[in-house]
Amino acid sequence: MAVAGCCARHPSTPITAAGLPAALRLIYTHHHWDHVWGACAWPEAEIIGHRAGTRLLEAKAQRPWSHHYLRAEAAADPMLGPSFRARAWAMPSWEGFPMMPPHTEFDEGLTLSGGIEVRHVGGLHAEDSTVVAVPNSGVLLLGGCFYAPPLHLLKAGDGYVADLVDWLLSEYPQGRYDWFVDGNSAPRSRQSLRDPTVSGVGWSDQSQSLIFTSRGSGAPCPVSMSCLRLIR
Ligand SMILES: [Zn+2]
Repeated sequence: MAVAGCCARHPSTPITAAGLPAALRLIYTHHHWDHVWGACAWPEAEIIGHRAGTRLLEAKAQRPWSHHYLRAEAAADPMLGPSFRARAWAMPSWEGFPMMPPHTEFDEGLTLSGGIEVRHVGGLHAEDSTVVAVPNSGVLLLGGCFYAPPLHLLKAGDGYVADLVDWLLSEYPQGRYDWFVDGNSAPRSRQSLRDPTVSGVGWSDQSQSLIFTSRGSGAPCPVSMSCLRLIR
């Protein structure tokens, strides 16, 4: 199971409500808060993560997380605002809320029981980005591997990593992998993954706003919620 932290305090609630059993194993697709905070909801589960992400996660766990800290950091760097406000909404407090480093680390990849393949792919979004292939289901879990960097790290020209998407589509071929699940979207078909909405993201000093460009044409495209999710 890949953990998303949209309800970081109680991520297990919808799973329990659906009548599903507790997670036995968690695989971190990358170390960002909205993918790892909340792992403590399954204290018995084995957590698997890339070695680089473990180092980053351990450093982040040392920060003095609080609403006061989030406000101060966002005031010092407004580019942190969207992400830090989302954390504040998700977390009433950090009291008794441990951030869990992986129990099992890997460098290039692992094969787990059931033939599940865990593979480090990296990318602009996070250096520890990992994909998880579930061959029996024809599903590839992508985390955020093809997204742009987080907003506060964004540079001119950064965007959707088309080369990585093309490589994934060749590595996980048609007929064996038909569904692709990233961290912020509904499940995608191969075509949906191939036809991104955004290829480039930049900051305009003139308009003091983000500019998104379409893949292929490079023409400006309207900002949508999916654009904004890609850089969170
Ligand atoms: Zn992320």
